Amino acid sequence: MVMMVDTYLKRQGVRNKVNITWTTFESGYIQAFGPRLNDVVTEEFKERNITGLKEYIVKEVLPNKVIYQNGEEIPYDVLISFPPYIASVFYKNIPTDERGFIQTNFNDRSVKGYNNIFAPGDAGDFPVKQAFLAFLQADTVANKIHADLLNSDFKEGFDPVSMCVMEQFDKATFAQVPLRLTGNPTKPIEVDPERIDEYKVGVSPLWRIGKKMLGIYLPMRFRHAEPFHAGAAWKTMELGLKGMSSILAD
Ligand SMILES: Cc1cc2nc3c(=O)[nH]c(=O)nc-3n(C[C@H](O)[C@H](O)[C@H](O)COP(=O)(O)OP(=O)(O)OC[C@H]3O[C@@H](n4cnc5c(N)ncnc54)[C@H](O)[C@@H]3O)c2cc1C
Repeated sequence: MVMMVDTYLKRQGVRNKVNITWTTFESGYIQAFGPRLNDVVTEEFKERNITGLKEYIVKEVLPNKVIYQNGEEIPYDVLISFPPYIASVFYKNIPTDERGFIQTNFNDRSVKGYNNIFAPGDAGDFPVKQAFLAFLQADTVANKIHADLLNSDFKEGFDPVSMCVMEQFDKATFAQVPLRLTGNPTKPIEVDPERIDEYKVGVSPLWRIGKKMLGIYLPMRFRHAEPFHAGAAWKTMELGLKGMSSILAD
């Protein structure tokens, strides 16, 4: 969002009239996606003259300034804020974590203590809330139900490799990130060190084409009531993304 705002203001010819400051409680930008995303954002902020402040924990928001736990105060004219992640619905009778997300068995996304209730996607306790990961979890659940119905082995458990293209209007950042749970509630997720060869990041105007391809592909699949991640259409899409990432990411 901050990159898009910067590009937009530049195109309107008013960027020099606006100071952009980004603050986060995280110790690395887009912390869940590891050190390489932190490097990309640091570089982009430098190029774009955006002030970035990490480990700034909000204490209070007043009508004209934000006060942080470290004693710093930052004045603002316009404030864009993101709330902390918590569940919007709290269920009394099923196990939930400290933020209200439904506790699941990692491999098949079934709810803990139940083998016939599943919680794929944002409602479940996987710490990264993202459409791509929600789709992968939905595939897992479909495969699990299919295996149960046929009384066959369930082999295709949840493989949390995130893929995303972050729009900046002038260029976009691609990231493919193999994730793993840490068991530490303050930093519950990290890049899987055993799958570092799958960790790919790239920045290019051409990644905007990748984003647009997904924007055409997904509604097309959904309109035909087809899963995003299966069949010949996905194989073609996957080939395109793999081809792009072999040239435009490392
Ligand atoms: C501003 C924003 C930008 C985002 N950008 C991206 C992005 O660029 N890329 C990306 O991968 N992800 C992005 N995400 C995250 C992504 O939208 C979610 O991870 C994804 O939608 C989760 O899918 P889901 O099916 O688990 O939940 P949802 O999409 O939230 O679907 C849950 C559905 O259940 C319905 N529902 C809830 N309660 C009930 C009920 N009691 N009865 C019946 N229906 C009910 C809701 O109305 C909703 O339609 C973004 C999220 C936000 C908020």
